[in-house]
Amino acid sequence: MSEKVSVECCVIGGGPAGMMLGLLLARAGVNVLVLEKHADFLRDFRGDTVHPSTLQIMYELGLLDRLLELPHSRIEELTVRFGDSDVTVASFKNLPIRCRFVAIMPQWEFLNFIAREAERYSSFRLMMNTEATDLIEREGKIVGVAAHGPNGPLEILARLVVGADGRQSGFPERAGLEAEELGVPMDVFWFRLSRRVADDPSQAGGRFDRGRILVLIPRVGYWQVGYVIPKGSAERIRGVGLEAFRDMVGGAAPFARDRVQEIRSWDDVKLLTVRINRLRRWFRPGLLFIGDAAHAMSPVGGVGINLAIQDAVATANAVAVPLREDRLTTSDLERVQRRRELPMRATQKLQMVMQEAVIRPNLRAENKVGRMPIAFQLLRVFPPLRRVPAYLIGMGLRPEHVRTPTIPGSPG
Ligand SMILES: Cc1cc2nc3c(=O)[nH]c(=O)nc-3n(C[C@H](O)[C@H](O)[C@H](O)COP(=O)(O)OP(=O)(O)OC[C@H]3O[C@@H](n4cnc5c(N)ncnc54)[C@H](O)[C@@H]3O)c2cc1C
Repeated sequence: MSEKVSVECCVIGGGPAGMMLGLLLARAGVNVLVLEKHADFLRDFRGDTVHPSTLQIMYELGLLDRLLELPHSRIEELTVRFGDSDVTVASFKNLPIRCRFVAIMPQWEFLNFIAREAERYSSFRLMMNTEATDLIEREGKIVGVAAHGPNGPLEILARLVVGADGRQSGFPERAGLEAEELGVPMDVFWFRLSRRVADDPSQAGGRFDRGRILVLIPRVGYWQVGYVIPKGSAERIRGVGLEAFRDMVGGAAPFARDRVQEIRSWDDVKLLTVRINRLRRWFRPGLLFIGDAAHAMSPVGGVGINLAIQDAVATANAVAVPLREDRLTTSDLERVQRRRELPMRATQKLQMVMQEAVIRPNLRAENKVGRMPIAFQLLRVFPPLRRVPAYLIGMGLRPEHVRTPTIPGSPG
């Protein structure tokens, strides 16, 4: 026998998109339930960037100061090294916004923070350890979710179901929504190496040299390192052995050569299978997909979380009042796709251009010192141009703002 629950909105997935949507809807007085299949938010390397646009949203919600009390590091500039030449590709210092930096904090800290804030509203409920297993459909409309929680099966009826369950979501297919897959030339190995603030490079950035591409993100006490590999080559590289991989890493980041033994086994190295895709249609009556579930982004520019959160804000803006007043229509859902599709497509297009112009040729150039592409040379010669990538990465195209009301007597 299933336990039966009835809510105004059921969100599948407690990632950045789902948690932000849960918070915004609860704050607007919508009865919202977020389902998260894991028991906690602890995940390594799930994208730990909090972009200036997200910090702006937190400011608009009155939560910025409290969020920044959590331990974090700050990135104000991104530097890329081709061979021996450095170029600053983005400087966030001039963004027309409150926080002119990317905050780096573990995603679980950020999500725990959002959960704590959301739980102050009686209209919010988060069920951990609870996996959505199916959509419930009646007369062509999605009316709820079947799930499995710690106490057994659940049947959740909802006026709106939002799929925010990430890039592996199987629900779009089950709902008959088609995805379009775009080609990518790479996958990424993620791992960590200790960081010595006095001697190490001071900036986040990328390194391109002799077929090796490395991404370095400074964290409190360590480097989060991304080693970019040709698509589908992970097994071959693992087969060659860990020692050879350590050598490759040391070659790409000579300052860290003395630390590559910190990669003790392949268990320390997480593979990100890179995908770029998007749903042609994000919605059906009673159902909407946002974040990675609607469009998986390439890691180029590290903008996946940014877009997921912007989708959540746009969704809350479009659906909160209609949901609360029980007058939600499919055109409200269509409005979300119309608003977010263009920035998402334009960002994917830019990522594809970067992949073809910069990443693919550098992955092939095994014997050549990385040559700086012309666009990067221009950034070096005309520093004001660095504002363009900074804006695209830090704010994104069409930044969203909180337009949802707060219910009278609510905590904030
Ligand atoms: C290794 C790695 C590194 C990355 N680095 C960056 C970065 O530096 N910057 C950046 O911006 N982005 C980065 N990304 C991408 C970024 O993490 C995603 O774009 C972003 O998390 C998408 O948010 P989301 O809420 O849409 O989905 P997700 O973060 O994927 O969240 C989906 C949630 O749904 C839950 N879930 C899934 N299925 C179910 C179900 N059936 N029932 C209940 N819950 C379910 C999952 O457990 C998960 O918590 C990285 C991704 C990976 C994998």
